[in-house]
Amino acid sequence: MRRRGPGPTGRALQVSAHAIIKRSSSSRSPLALRMDAFCRNPNRTVPAAEGGPRRADVPLCSRTNGWSWPPHPFQLLAWLLYVYFAITSFGVFVPLLPAHWIPAGYICTGVMFLSHLCVHVTAVSIDPADYNVRTRSHRGPVPIFDRSKHPHVIENCHCYLCQVDVGPKSKHCSSCNKCVANFDHHCRWLNNCVGSRNYKLFLHSVLSALLGVGLVLVVASYVFVEFFLDPARLRTSQHFLARNDSSVWFVFLPMAPLRSAAAAIPGLAAVTIALALLSSVLLSHLLCFHVYLMWNRLSTYEYIIRQRH
Ligand SMILES: [Zn+2]
Ligand SMILES: [Zn+2]
Repeated sequence: MRRRGPGPTGRALQVSAHAIIKRSSSSRSPLALRMDAFCRNPNRTVPAAEGGPRRADVPLCSRTNGWSWPPHPFQLLAWLLYVYFAITSFGVFVPLLPAHWIPAGYICTGVMFLSHLCVHVTAVSIDPADYNVRTRSHRGPVPIFDRSKHPHVIENCHCYLCQVDVGPKSKHCSSCNKCVANFDHHCRWLNNCVGSRNYKLFLHSVLSALLGVGLVLVVASYVFVEFFLDPARLRTSQHFLARNDSSVWFVFLPMAPLRSAAAAIPGLAAVTIALALLSSVLLSHLLCFHVYLMWNRLSTYEYIIRQRH
């Protein structure tokens, strides 16, 4: 559906990313800036050593996928949020739903979380490199780019760093230190490049995360509101009936009931609602941005280049 004949800028797309970075961010659209909240610096496609010492954040060898060293803080944050939403949803909020809603709560939330886990892990695990990079015989330290010898890392579809011919839309990512097939952007949340090999998985990952977070938001909001309006509707579990004390609440029902203070329930719901709202706004913006890109048959990289010309 998306991509993408050679852009009007042709070879200019292989312009040094170092020059791109130096451009003022003030010329960028608000949407692009919002998108950067998810995938910062998506167009830094060339190691910018320029003949000087190797930059500390450019890996000596090319990274294989999102599990390769070094991890990125955003990647860890994404997994922490996933674990937090899973624990609070399955452990606290769904068991507090009215009894006839609980099976649907477990099934819908379970399907969303499991499908997101599958596509997220697959998008991270795929090596998005250009075919010739993946199948090259020599694997070792990637040379430092010497700008005095070549103006661009990739010229005439040959990458001087990967030392192989690459596709016309491949770009050399400085974070991964390799050429990525149909480069879109380097996503720090996946800690992996997004190219033609994992673009659909990336989109599914965003969509399933948005649906999952939306479901968490609905369930947590229901618990928060009912706690103040009609707490009896949250207390249908056998454990509440056994303890006829309205100040006693339980989490991790029904398997491992743990007594908790009453204030902990709305407090946890409020934190979860805030996190889910923030996540869903950012995910919605990212999804809308990529729908816009697909509609216009652009990659993120091409979009940013166009914004700057
Ligand atoms: Zn390369
Ligand atoms: Zn990359």
